[in-house]
Amino acid sequence: MRIYLDHNATTPVDPAVVEAMDDALRNCFGNPSSVHAYGQTAKAALDDGRAAVADLVNGQPSEILFTGSGTEADNLALRGLAAAVQPGTKNHLIATTIEHEAVLNTLKALNRAGWTTSLLPVDETGTVDPVSLEQAITDKTALVSVMHANNEIGTIQPISELATIAHQHGALFHTDAVQTAGKHPIDVVALGVDLLAISAHKFNGPKGVGALWVRRGTRLVSEMTGGGQEKNRRAGTENVPAIVGLGVAAKLAKKNVAYQTSATGKLRDALEAEILSAVPNTFVNGSSNRVTNTTNISFTGVEAESLLIALDLAGIAVSTGSACSSGTLEPSHVLKAMGLSTHRAQNSIRFSLGLNNTNADIARTVQTLPTLVDKLRALSNTGS
Ligand code: PLP
Repeated sequence: MRIYLDHNATTPVDPAVVEAMDDALRNCFGNPSSVHAYGQTAKAALDDGRAAVADLVNGQPSEILFTGSGTEADNLALRGLAAAVQPGTKNHLIATTIEHEAVLNTLKALNRAGWTTSLLPVDETGTVDPVSLEQAITDKTALVSVMHANNEIGTIQPISELATIAHQHGALFHTDAVQTAGKHPIDVVALGVDLLAISAHKFNGPKGVGALWVRRGTRLVSEMTGGGQEKNRRAGTENVPAIVGLGVAAKLAKKNVAYQTSATGKLRDALEAEILSAVPNTFVNGSSNRVTNTTNISFTGVEAESLLIALDLAGIAVSTGSACSSGTLEPSHVLKAMGLSTHRAQNSIRFSLGLNNTNADIARTVQTLPTLVDKLRALSNTGS
């Protein structure tokens, strides 16, 4: 039996989601913009999905826009808001050094298009200090974007405090909540944000569908030109079966979040504690205020890619904190931003748990790891 500990990359699709999508594909083929009964059936399916997503984040159904991914939701938040700003007024955007590429690369593109951009630093736990936002923000800042929880280390940011500062300076606030949906409660009212992005495949829904919650009254220009779908903010016929799947996944996520924070959290804590005690020279990266499914651990003297492959051969799927880009092992930008040395950043493995993990999964992982780490350390000591 293989063990899957890479739920921050993606999650298995829940059987109830598969069933609902199958039914929608077969029986709900109408175009939701059509006036006839076929269209209205599809429209009703969209409405159901919208209500479920709104309920997951404590927003209103009319504030939910469906997108083709979490990446697209982030793009729509940043680009759509930038496009809505009156030329000659605000010209500044702020994010953090540890954002997902969906935000970081969008910010870079907006910078090339003439926007001034700033990236807030994080401390050694991966947390943004609100004081750094106070220092960076000006009356020219249009938007501040800070992720709710980080995908590599799980650290949760002080979003409501940061959003308050943004608002005090007349800026809007976006949060990428792709890694919190289903793992941690989300309440747009308590968070005090203006925009919030989620992605279905991170909480047992299908890939290729996401949503952006946009506070009522927030001006946003569609990045896609075409029809008037999604209140003129996202042109293109909606992907009805995927949205049906997103809706069912959102209902399950709301129901399962307590289990994720308690039972999955206990498994994660056990995994982390047992690795730290069974394998010498290991360190946890991140804050104690983390999503409860994630632990990112550095194994001194071990090339993380080699450990990932060795674990995969042993039937255990994890991921590294580093991305492999164009043939060179680039250390993770998140771990680097936290001040980790290149070595420690390249020694890091992310274990991210999900609803189906069991005590037996943790026991086998803890049993397997020490021998693999010993072997890899011995190899690197002999220089082979
Ligand atoms: N934001 C974060 C924090 C993520 O972890 C991811 C996916 O890894 C995304 C955005 C992108 O979501 P999607 O895969 O739906 O494009």
